[in-house]
Amino acid sequence: MNQNLIKVNKKDLPVIIDLRYASTNNFTKKKLYTSDICLIHKVAYEHLHLAVEIAKKQNLRLKIFDAYRPANIQKKLWDCLPDPNFIAPPYKGSPHSRGVAVDLTLTDKQGNELDMGTDFDEFSRLSYHGCLDISAESYKNRLLLLGIMIDAGWDFYRNEWWHYQLFNSKKFPIIYES
Ligand SMILES: [Zn+2]
Repeated sequence: MNQNLIKVNKKDLPVIIDLRYASTNNFTKKKLYTSDICLIHKVAYEHLHLAVEIAKKQNLRLKIFDAYRPANIQKKLWDCLPDPNFIAPPYKGSPHSRGVAVDLTLTDKQGNELDMGTDFDEFSRLSYHGCLDISAESYKNRLLLLGIMIDAGWDFYRNEWWHYQLFNSKKFPIIYES
């Protein structure tokens, strides 16, 4: 395994892990990952850890949909949806392939997902930050996630409420193989 990647492990970090690309429950309807081990860059892990602690203070938990994404899988996603508004083109490299991005939502203590107005990977403008066409409750929940992640040192992506990445993501090299 690449020495910069750390396994996100429910024992060490009280998060819920639901790697959607390791199942058929994703927009491609295909199982893209061969394993359901959740990996993240060790620098990003520290920020994730802080986000977990901040969420806990609010009686909330984090549920992770994706973190490190091998570059060949990024290419497959691009082939399914070649839209740079939502998927990073392979030549540019996704921050996920650098290990420094995470897709996630909030749950209550029991693990019930908070209503964010859309599901993960809904590729429409309803997923944009600043979209007023979602309910007040959904908007509040998105702001809560935004606040937790920003406080923990993550940058947001304006087209996807679930996506966060480190501010200096480009300085981390693409990791081709886990
Ligand atoms: Zn993402």
